[in-house]
Amino acid sequence: KMNVYKFGNKTADGNTSMKNLLGGKGANLAEMSLLGIPVPAGFTITTEVCTKYNEVGQDATVAMIKEDVEAAIKNVEFIMGSTFGDKENPLLISVRSGARVSMPGMMDTVLNLGLNDEVVMGLASRTGNERFAWDSYRRFIQMYGDVVLGMKPESKDDIDPFEEIMEALKHKRDIELDTEFTIQDLKDLVYDFKEAVKKRTGHDFPTNPWDQLWGAVVAVFDSWNGDRAVYYRNMHGYPADWGTAVNVQAMVYGNMGDNSGTGVCFTRDAGTGEDVFNGEYLINAQGEDVVAGTRTPQQITKLGSIRWAELAKVEEEDRVKNYPSLEELMPAIYHELNGYQQKLEDHYKDMQDMEFTMQDGKLWILQTRNGKRTGAAMVKIAIDKLKEGSIDEKEAILRVEPNKLDELLHPVFDPKALKKANVIAQGLPASPGAATGQIVFFADEANKYKNTILTRIETSPEDLEGMNIAKGILTARGGMTSHAAVVARGMGKCCVSGAGALKINYKNRTLTVDGHEYHEGDWISLNGSTGNIIEGKVATIEPELSGEFAEIMELADKYSKMKVRTNADTPKDARVARGFGAQGIGLTRTEHMFFEVDRIKAMREMILAETVKGRKQALEQLLPMQREDFEGIFEAMAGLPVTVRLLDPPLHEFVPHQLAHQKELAEDMHISLDAVKAKIVELEEFNPMLGHRGCRLGITYPEITEMQTRAIIEAALNLKERGIEAKPEIMVPLIGTLAEFVSQEEIIRATAQKVFEERNDTIEFLVGTMIEIPRAALTANLIAQRAEFFSFGTNDLTQMAFGYSRDDAGKFLPIYIEKGILKVDPFEVLDQEGVGQLVQLGTERGRSTKPDLKVGICGEHGGEPNSVEFCYNTNLNYVSCSPFRVPIARLSAAQAQI
Ligand code: PEP
Ligand code: MG
Repeated sequence: KMNVYKFGNKTADGNTSMKNLLGGKGANLAEMSLLGIPVPAGFTITTEVCTKYNEVGQDATVAMIKEDVEAAIKNVEFIMGSTFGDKENPLLISVRSGARVSMPGMMDTVLNLGLNDEVVMGLASRTGNERFAWDSYRRFIQMYGDVVLGMKPESKDDIDPFEEIMEALKHKRDIELDTEFTIQDLKDLVYDFKEAVKKRTGHDFPTNPWDQLWGAVVAVFDSWNGDRAVYYRNMHGYPADWGTAVNVQAMVYGNMGDNSGTGVCFTRDAGTGEDVFNGEYLINAQGEDVVAGTRTPQQITKLGSIRWAELAKVEEEDRVKNYPSLEELMPAIYHELNGYQQKLEDHYKDMQDMEFTMQDGKLWILQTRNGKRTGAAMVKIAIDKLKEGSIDEKEAILRVEPNKLDELLHPVFDPKALKKANVIAQGLPASPGAATGQIVFFADEANKYKNTILTRIETSPEDLEGMNIAKGILTARGGMTSHAAVVARGMGKCCVSGAGALKINYKNRTLTVDGHEYHEGDWISLNGSTGNIIEGKVATIEPELSGEFAEIMELADKYSKMKVRTNADTPKDARVARGFGAQGIGLTRTEHMFFEVDRIKAMREMILAETVKGRKQALEQLLPMQREDFEGIFEAMAGLPVTVRLLDPPLHEFVPHQLAHQKELAEDMHISLDAVKAKIVELEEFNPMLGHRGCRLGITYPEITEMQTRAIIEAALNLKERGIEAKPEIMVPLIGTLAEFVSQEEIIRATAQKVFEERNDTIEFLVGTMIEIPRAALTANLIAQRAEFFSFGTNDLTQMAFGYSRDDAGKFLPIYIEKGILKVDPFEVLDQEGVGQLVQLGTERGRSTKPDLKVGICGEHGGEPNSVEFCYNTNLNYVSCSPFRVPIARLSAAQAQI
């Protein structure tokens, strides 16, 4: 293995399979070079060098790679025909980060490196363009100052120190645009920038190109541990030891005049997945100008340009004159680019996101990568690629990221409500979705209200965290490839960008459209699919599983043998889950049914009753209600198994804690307030989660188990009379010993028998148990002598295996994760190393007694992709999760098997 990999001129040391070592960008640059696509020559310093740097520091790292880097620069000089640091014919370079996965805008880039007071003269005479040379120089000092020398704004309200100098000069010269600066102005700016650097850092700006290069390399390595990158990594669960590669590449210029330009393009629509080549470009601009969103970019294709003009309300004549597409303006270059995009998509068999630059009429491709896309686009592209025959069914399933399906399960605007909506402006449909929230103007205030719309002139990588928190993102500037748009699509967050009609005033915290003023805290809604910005709140409806989404789900089921059930407590949830493909219910928590107003009273009377008779009377009131609940649920799941769990939570959760309610209860029950209070005190426990709950309730109050069993069996019989098949599975919670289970099982069977005799009819049902206490897992071979099925309650199992209270862990888990003591929250992602052993062992021991024992999981982990994979590997029969996670679990189950 080498430390430095060269590429350019149709050759390369590396290739696309080396992403872990070269980063995504480096590996693809090498591959493109091998494919004969024109990439500016360069080289990649590996991610392993970055990791080494983090261990041994700067000096040792530089010493280690110095010779290789010098040789690689020589190679670039040879290919490009210019010399690094040369006064006559200088080679300038860019230095960019590149991790193994793309982290847009998360890490740093320095362009135009190699300039100093002498080299700038060479650049001017070589290109015959003095203005361009000095403009490049001032950009270089600005970027290098920011990225390498830490010349950042000092606070949120401050502007960038270099911008401040430029603004002052514009003011003095009474001009508005950067392009109005004269050559002398640019020279003055360079001088002032360097002075500002000296004043703030105490050092001269480095003039030696090699010093500049090493400074930039080290800064890129450091950016891997910068706040933005760390936040992004944590958000996606990427480990810190991946490191970033550094890509050093010859500069090509999009800002050399009207025959130059730069752009970004996608081989398919990243928002919808539609198979249309699209993208944006700017004439006479450098790469960052397109993404920064400061100028309105033009469309690459004519079709895109016409669509854009419609949205932006630009007349055709105006469009052709002022915003022509690349296809119309530079047909030959467009033709060449179109060829490369097809070639690259065919080669990578996936949608590509490419960057290009035209320097004086010559096209260069600077980067290609698998494009970020929304959940909807992800599914559509996978299915389309399958239908085109470029990937097979298994690959199509693997292309879909389970957690991203979540986006397709969120509510969409109700078409009826949209008809009445007051559309105040329109921007670009940058990332689909429906978002309603209160306006905030600063990323660090995105959590000021429960639902917020982050409203900005444009966004920058610093805003990432706030963008993640906000429900939607709205920008006044920037196109479909602006930072806001790209990042929002990656997050699957609704975004409307480039709404030019908006006037945003950060200072007053106002948004003005057509003379109407909106303030921070006002409600607005965004339609990310049309670009509409709507006043106030708009009603939403549940989405459906249809089209390509349904196709990928069917495909997933074809490849997975593990079943997916749902946790549902109401007929409505059961119906939703069935719509998402649930193959039964793995957990109905019966207690939730008791919290409704008219029921909780009967429940409380039951709890406070002093005698068995009193308790039975109260339970009798509850019986018809429970029976009705079960009928609804069984009907929604007709023909599929439904696991109903007996009462589980500590009784104390049901008693009234407010004085008024206590008084009311005393009156209803004809007992004194003091008696009620005394009973409540009596029910209080030090550790309710380890207290009087689960099967302990049914053991101390068998009447409860009797009533619930009766409700279940009667409901099933009632459905049978109506010709509907119910398949109840009665589940005993929280057992630790076989004897506990047996005591409940006997009551259940006896009660069922009684009902069968009364009704002179029977149905089939199972009696099983949750495995959620470590002792139950350890003695599973004994418990399986009687239990007909197991369901792992990994919420309680995690709680008891770690000894972390489920209800209190929120206080310390974030600190554990921050300190690296835990990698993730074990209540979210199953701890395979520890708790997983109990699941494995419980399953094995259970099946050692009953080889075909049905085993499932119904803790929260049942819908988490990694945990689902673990369940598959542990040979569970099913996972059960909340309705909205059913598709995610179905896909994860298929991926685990592939
Ligand atoms: C569990 O403990 O994992 C479980 C599913 O039950 P509950 O969350 O209701 O305790
Ligand atoms: Mg539990």
